Amino acid sequence: MYPKMTVYLNRIEANARYICELAAKKGVRITGVVKSSDNYSNSYKAIGSAMMRAGTVSLADSRMKTIERMREMGVDEHILLLRIPQMWEISKVVAFADASLQSDPGTLAAMEEEAAKQDKIHEVILMTDLGDLREGIFNPDVFHETAVWIEKELPHLRLLGIGTNLGCYGSIVPDEANLKLLVSRAKAIEEAIGRKLDIVSGGGTSTLPMLLNDTLPEGINHLRVGEGILLGRDLKTIWKLPFDGLRMDTYMVEAQIIEIEEKPSYPIGTIFVDAFGNTPEYTDIGNRQRALLAIGKRDIGSHDALFPIDEAITVVGGSSDHLILDITDSATPLSVGDIVRFLPNYQALVNCIESSDVTIVHHLE
Ligand SMILES: *Cc1c(COP(=O)(O)O)cnc(C)c1O
Repeated sequence: MYPKMTVYLNRIEANARYICELAAKKGVRITGVVKSSDNYSNSYKAIGSAMMRAGTVSLADSRMKTIERMREMGVDEHILLLRIPQMWEISKVVAFADASLQSDPGTLAAMEEEAAKQDKIHEVILMTDLGDLREGIFNPDVFHETAVWIEKELPHLRLLGIGTNLGCYGSIVPDEANLKLLVSRAKAIEEAIGRKLDIVSGGGTSTLPMLLNDTLPEGINHLRVGEGILLGRDLKTIWKLPFDGLRMDTYMVEAQIIEIEEKPSYPIGTIFVDAFGNTPEYTDIGNRQRALLAIGKRDIGSHDALFPIDEAITVVGGSSDHLILDITDSATPLSVGDIVRFLPNYQALVNCIESSDVTIVHHLE
């Protein structure tokens, strides 16, 4: 059935191994983020196992529902909840996650109470905000006091460490300035509590370039990496960095041709707005051989999120349910019924997984 997305588990494992080895050289441990695995099969388990075989120290996801599902599937690895818990889900957090990212004192107090009730010790990574302005305690003094409070006053919570998140809301680049600040906050907390913190967590995929450039400040010993393992594309094509060991062909999308027609490249009539209310621009390059594919924005997010494996094929646009290709120069002649193969970017990959129409297949090679 098409559209179809194949997940190459061994390639994901190879990416994870490459990143874990790169990190290990700098004394950094990696938690594998399984976000954007699909709900319809056991892919959390398959991808999580691939990451653990490759050397990640634990697994993580942002949604409690996913973590609960992973436990149902028999995943018994150390699991970290990435999104600050909702109050209503606290009993699940304590029951199913070993550790969680935290920032709110009220939530922490409720976590303590629940952990006591379940007779468990739950591990906490306290988040501080260094300017990206998503989660984390912003005021450095409040952050410090909250960390010390967890250590001294909340016996069923163990302060595993501290962390920060960058490159999300504020698009702030992790750099030596902001990550040195994290290290200094860690040191102050260590002095106050009289022991080392296990984890000083300096971000996710967007911190990986600092590993490669050898600019990661000493003292950062942990990263939470999803995208960089699952798909090397952005690090190589947006950051333009020589992550030579990273593969971009970890996922492949296939869709079927439903129409081939020679048509003008410039629409005929009065141009107003497309199906999404945008006014795109069109270039007239004469008549072209166009293929219509049965996959659309509902499955891939945006038409420029898919990259044809045959580089002579170009994606000219799309709508909710269709993708339009220019196949005039394609390497092999194509007919209706043929399958066209693409590498997805991260957005397309996430959308395919969420799309009920895309069949997901796991491949072990
Ligand atoms: C999703 C997430 C990550 C992983 O981000 P990637 O860019 O996929 O590596 C790390 N930390 C937090 C808090 C997250 O929500």
